[in-house]
Amino acid sequence: MVRYVYDFHEGGRDLADLLGGKGANLAEMTRLSLPVPPGFIVTTEACRAFLTTGAEPEGMSREVSQHLTALEESAGRRLGQPDDPLLLSVRSGARFSMPGMMETVLDIGLNDDSVLGLAKASGNERFAWDSYRRLVQMFGTTVMGVDSALFEQAMTFLKETRDVPDDVHLDANDLAQLVETYKNVIHLETGEYFPQSPAEQLRRAILAVFESWNGERARLYRRREHIPDDLGTAVTVQRMVYGNLGPDSGSGVAFTRDPATGRAGLYGDYLSNAQGEDVVAGIRNTVPLAELERLDTRSYRELRAHLRTLESHYRDLCDIEFTIERGRLWMLQTRVGKRTAEASFAIAAELVDEELITPAESLARVSGDGLARLMFPRFDASATGEALAHGLPASPGAAVGAVVFDSAEAVRRAAAGEKVVLVRQETTPDDLPGMVAAQAVLTSRGGKTSHAAVVARGMGKVCVCGAEELTVDIEVRRFTTRDGTVVEEGTVISVDGSAGAVYPGAAPLVDSEVMRYLETGEQGERAAGVVDAVAGALRQADGIRRLEVRANADTPEDAARARRFGAQGIGLCRTEHMFLGERRKLVEEMILATTDAARDRALDALLPLQRQDFISILEAMNGLPVTIRLLDPPLHEFLPDRTELAVRIAATEARGDTPDPHDTELLDAVSRMHEENPMLGLRGVRLGLVVPGLVAMQVRAIAEAVVERTRAGGSPEAEIMVPLVGAVEELRIERDEVERVLAVVSEESGIPVSCPVGTMIELPRAALTAGRIAEEAEFFSFGTNDLTQTTWGFSRDDVEAAFFSAYLDKGVFAASPFETLDREGVGRLVGLAVAEGRATRPDLKIGVCGEHGGDPESVHFFHTAGLDYVSCSPFGVPVARLEAGRAALSETEESDSR
Ligand code: PEP
Ligand code: MG
Repeated sequence: MVRYVYDFHEGGRDLADLLGGKGANLAEMTRLSLPVPPGFIVTTEACRAFLTTGAEPEGMSREVSQHLTALEESAGRRLGQPDDPLLLSVRSGARFSMPGMMETVLDIGLNDDSVLGLAKASGNERFAWDSYRRLVQMFGTTVMGVDSALFEQAMTFLKETRDVPDDVHLDANDLAQLVETYKNVIHLETGEYFPQSPAEQLRRAILAVFESWNGERARLYRRREHIPDDLGTAVTVQRMVYGNLGPDSGSGVAFTRDPATGRAGLYGDYLSNAQGEDVVAGIRNTVPLAELERLDTRSYRELRAHLRTLESHYRDLCDIEFTIERGRLWMLQTRVGKRTAEASFAIAAELVDEELITPAESLARVSGDGLARLMFPRFDASATGEALAHGLPASPGAAVGAVVFDSAEAVRRAAAGEKVVLVRQETTPDDLPGMVAAQAVLTSRGGKTSHAAVVARGMGKVCVCGAEELTVDIEVRRFTTRDGTVVEEGTVISVDGSAGAVYPGAAPLVDSEVMRYLETGEQGERAAGVVDAVAGALRQADGIRRLEVRANADTPEDAARARRFGAQGIGLCRTEHMFLGERRKLVEEMILATTDAARDRALDALLPLQRQDFISILEAMNGLPVTIRLLDPPLHEFLPDRTELAVRIAATEARGDTPDPHDTELLDAVSRMHEENPMLGLRGVRLGLVVPGLVAMQVRAIAEAVVERTRAGGSPEAEIMVPLVGAVEELRIERDEVERVLAVVSEESGIPVSCPVGTMIELPRAALTAGRIAEEAEFFSFGTNDLTQTTWGFSRDDVEAAFFSAYLDKGVFAASPFETLDREGVGRLVGLAVAEGRATRPDLKIGVCGEHGGDPESVHFFHTAGLDYVSCSPFGVPVARLEAGRAALSETEESDSR
């Protein structure tokens, strides 16, 4: 029989799929004998059943009642018992943590009677009414769907009437009055009364958590994080403990090390006389944990010991939520904590040093995306000038943008291409779209564990929070600094999330230390820890990866950079870039030539220029393979624009002048060559087969460059690649020509030149006939840009802007197939071509040189598909090295790549 409810004593962290992350970790802490208030978990399976059928699965409510009875018996009190009520919290908890996305309801069990009982039993009337108003507020928003702003307005109005700075200064009478106001708000907004039955409160809260799985914010978050939509959430129901019982009580959040930098040591925020939600909401300013040591030494020491227990048990940074109730510490939540990219590298390295994890495990805990983030520039400290304000460095990095004061404005301006900084007093889950759209988030309230900080870190977004010296006025859309400077919406500011500073204007940026290290092998002083950690991770990855990493480069500068970044060759040298600039004239002459002699003259003029290109690149990559691709794009791309030419000629004629005959000749040629679908037209190998002399010139340039480099004592390793082949016959003809020219140059120079000849696999037909094509190809390189374009029938230059956002919204795919390889379709062609190509030629060398070669997720696919190398942009090389190592690791090790 299916069970839908588990007691905390029954589960453990291995049951996270069923119990959700929060529930599984509460069970794990219970198992570790940490002080966890008792409770039970309604499973994700119950949620899935509810979402499918719209009704509670059979038996669920009976099980909930049984577990509730057990909880009541152990507490010696009943839920909502009028003279001394047992109260419960109800929280969501999916398999993957979704910060701020799902809602919590505290103090379930309070009603107009039991609030009086709670006041008596606790001897604290204010506390009882404060708890009741929290319940009505949370239940009103989460379960009954009332706009939270209405409750906040009522609270603000009451504070103003009483002339008190914060909620702590409201007394029991004030709070009782607030409860009445809140209940009226609910009735006015929904036509329903706040339910007085504790059992109904519990039941509705559980179902509301289920429903919130499909809330808009939750769906947005899942899409961003690629979390499947069908997992569902569990619900944890737990006995309440109270942080709002007076000055000897409070709530806090703690990390076993600094989640921003990775530095070791206890770290967190504490708020006395408050419940957990107040800490993250940034309603009042928190104090650092060190302050708790002074306030309540015993609880602090106990907390420290528990954090140690958790870190060595989980062998990773943990974050926890805790509450102190009249001097007694309770652990309310733990999980492996989110962290910045910098912290993830630093912590992984430190845990190896501390022998808590193996070097292989440490590699599984860092990511290519994180490394890419660390390669971004930071502000130049010597040139930022006077700061406008300081706050907490909540999520590192440097960002510049125009100030906006709400999420909608951030989204609107970002969609128009503007860079923006979202400035709020504090953020809530409603601000999520604006945070996604913004370059940085700046808040005037809240600690490093506030919503803004947690979410920004998760997104890798720059964040400064708790900049208290700023007065943020959302209504009039401006903020004021301590010295009275007024910053209006639209003003450009710079936000330094590493230092916690905000500067006026666009501050100049400097390269990152990680980038400097990758470029030069040298380490700066400021970030030695993270640079060491990155170096160590790359070493580790290089030691185990099977995929080689090459770069796409077509200048000697890019080639040299790629080499410094660790590229093991060039996987794609696009020769079309060598046909631009001043050389365009020669290309024009070649295209316009009407006689063999005229064409040969143009080709002869191009030859030495091409040769020099190849000499420089082969020199930069001396000893490493350089895959040179023969010309790919349609020739008209090298001619002037047809409309421009036609207008020029027409304007000249309109003035009564005779048009330049060269222009007329060009227009004729452009019109002749015009294609409706040039990407499917005369390009790639087709050009080589129909434009006389072109391939011969390019191959001669390559061969002569090889000769020259050999004579200079170098080790040139040129490989010749034919683009856009669809049939083996095309390749056979082109290859014959290539070999003929290689033989001629060998003969002329007396130096034997032999270059492997291979092809791109970038058309479905090429993939489907790869077994035949391999008869003529010594290597394959998947051109996954074209292969994606032609498999999906998506014009790669048009579709992303035209309709991809709609496709992403509608869930046709979770990521653009031009960014992350579509395994199901394009990937299947890749797999087929690898298998059939190698069946013909077992030593066939196979790589990929489309954009996907630098995409972390796709790198894992190419590893699994058995490729020999990936080739990506020079800047992508370190990321690809790291991910290739992680891919090799996940074959043998259990690694959680999320
Ligand atoms: C490809 O199609 O994936 C490729 C690398 O070639 P290009 O982008 O130059 O068409
Ligand atoms: Mg291509």
